[in-house]
Amino acid sequence: MPWREHQKAEHARRIGENHWRTRSIVTSPQGREVSVDGRRYLNFCSNDYLGLANHPRMIAAAAQAVQLRGTGSGASHLVCGHMDEHHLLEQEIAQFVGAEKAIVFSTGYMANLAIPQTFLRRNDLIIEDRLNHASLIDAGRYCDAEMKRFSHLDLPAAEKLLSQSNANRKMISTDGVFSMDGDVAPLPALREISVAQKALLVVDDAHGFGVLGENGTGVLEASGIPVSGGLLMVGTLGKSAGSFGAFVAGDAIYIESLIQFARAYIYTTALPPAVVAASRTAIQIFQNEPERRQTLLENIEYFRRTIRQTSLRLAESITPIQPIVLGSADVALRASSLLKQNGIWVVAIRPPTVPAGSSRLRITLSAAHTTQDIDQIVESLASDAMAQIVGETQ
Ligand SMILES: *Cc1c(COP(=O)(O)O)cnc(C)c1O
Repeated sequence: MPWREHQKAEHARRIGENHWRTRSIVTSPQGREVSVDGRRYLNFCSNDYLGLANHPRMIAAAAQAVQLRGTGSGASHLVCGHMDEHHLLEQEIAQFVGAEKAIVFSTGYMANLAIPQTFLRRNDLIIEDRLNHASLIDAGRYCDAEMKRFSHLDLPAAEKLLSQSNANRKMISTDGVFSMDGDVAPLPALREISVAQKALLVVDDAHGFGVLGENGTGVLEASGIPVSGGLLMVGTLGKSAGSFGAFVAGDAIYIESLIQFARAYIYTTALPPAVVAASRTAIQIFQNEPERRQTLLENIEYFRRTIRQTSLRLAESITPIQPIVLGSADVALRASSLLKQNGIWVVAIRPPTVPAGSSRLRITLSAAHTTQDIDQIVESLASDAMAQIVGETQ
């Protein structure tokens, strides 16, 4: 089939499945409210969990760094792009999460791609939870090792995949907080399995970093697991940190390997210094303003308590990610557009981002929300109009 015809057919298929994507143009900073198409919406789908993406101190730090260091880093880290801002951020992250060392990547996607490519070769094995983030799945696919997947949270299956393999080296890769479901991986048990099987455990904590644990360092802290030994923690800086970029933290020996061998680190331009300065400020705010985390946790609790008085079913989640699974893409789209009519923005998450038949409203909470905001979304979710759309699907 000629090129254009082929693409047309692909588009038609996607449209037919109700999986066609569109991009809304936001004309305001991120926050509890955003402007889209000239209208204000209460924002319940951002990952800016602590409301830092438009925080005055973050803005000031970025602006000052632009003045002092300019806009671009000019080169990759191993050439001349590794500036003081990058180096300090790495040290501050390592100290914050209690790891020997950390390395900053341009994106979480790239950090995740880099890990199996760096540590695994042919005849090695990587196993992944089926609901892992797409970047972890791609990392498994695009490395030289064999990838196998186990059913969501199925520890015996994970253990079996490892124990029955005679691979040279083995890796377990998991989301810390699952990005579309909000549930938390059974990390102490995975840690035990990884130790018994001499597997390296990779925990992608994109959604726990800055949010979970006594000090907000993430899901590992909340699970009582130090960032050391045969374990690597991945964190992203574009979510709760309100900035952009990512890091891998762990024992120095592993971080040094990434500096030496990770192609997704070596062959790309270092982050702009202003972005890094904002990330450094976020790490300070995590430590100096624990009340933000407290407010977020109270908002999560309040949302769950209020929803429980309705007929809607929530997933089991103690995190800011509170999905309402609706099933078909069509129902999820109509539910999302009803919310939009009511001035509330929650996109419908559909396949292939989530498994077929589990399209959902992925509601996310932020420390920036007020209880009135939460009342407003719950009222809309509990409305008769919503019940008509959701019908028997829940
Ligand atoms: C967002 C996300 C990533 C990707 O991070 P970026 O910095 O946005 O590339 C990786 N893993 C998980 C679990 C995520 O939710």
